[in-house]
Amino acid sequence: MPSAITFDGVTVAYPGGTVAVDAATLDITPGSFVALVGRSGSGKSTLLKTINRLVMPTAGRVLIDSRPVEAEPAHLLRRRIGYVFQGVGLFPHLTVAENIAIPLRLAGRSDPARVSELLDLVDLPREVGRRRPDALSGGQRQRVGVARALAAEAKLLLMDEPFGALDPMTRDTLGRAVRGLHDRLGLTTLMVTHDMAEALLLATRVLVMADGRIVADATPAVLIAGEGGAEAQALVDVPRRQSRALEGLGA
Ligand code: ADP
Repeated sequence: MPSAITFDGVTVAYPGGTVAVDAATLDITPGSFVALVGRSGSGKSTLLKTINRLVMPTAGRVLIDSRPVEAEPAHLLRRRIGYVFQGVGLFPHLTVAENIAIPLRLAGRSDPARVSELLDLVDLPREVGRRRPDALSGGQRQRVGVARALAAEAKLLLMDEPFGALDPMTRDTLGRAVRGLHDRLGLTTLMVTHDMAEALLLATRVLVMADGRIVADATPAVLIAGEGGAEAQALVDVPRRQSRALEGLGA
């Protein structure tokens, strides 16, 4: 089985002694949509950032398509990896179109048609391209973040709480839009979220982290069946209890 991402004994100990990731070993098959779920501080972001080298492991290795991530300069590696995080990090003085075009510029391409295509891809009207980021809603800004992440035809999409700051309706719509793009473009996607319901609804595989360790690694169906172990079960119980409580109110 080919592996898009390999974690081989990856450990990250921060200065000060926190072991944020403790000997993670697993393979991610091309085309999977993997959710990394766990309580705050469990090590999800740190593990994700070892892929695009924002964090270097203190032991172990990370490989993309069987090549160690440190085999090429970090900026070249990052060009092939889309990265979306909660605050998006759009440049406020640039237009939306200019923001989306940054990865293209870095790759020496000037391609206005590609920018229009990317706006279409994330369902934003083309006129939005002429606006500045502060003239957009939070949901629209996240869509711009996704468009920029995919601009240079990255096949690997990393998302760190991408919908964290959004209202529930926008979050739901955008989650499904990203899953649609993942399927259509044949991406391999890793998404960090603390929201188990979101993970179960969007992912093909869910990794549960606790204290730096991967304590469950299963499909949503297996987790919903209660076969993911104690930590996974505790996280699955939250949306389940909420849903029962809501049904009770309507009864
Ligand atoms: P999560 O994404 O699950 O909330 P993180 O990966 O952000 O978890 O953090 C895991 C642990 O590492 C936490 O205890 C956090 O305080 C610590 N940590 C994260 N980043 C740093 C850093 N740059 N320096 C020192 N400790 C850090």
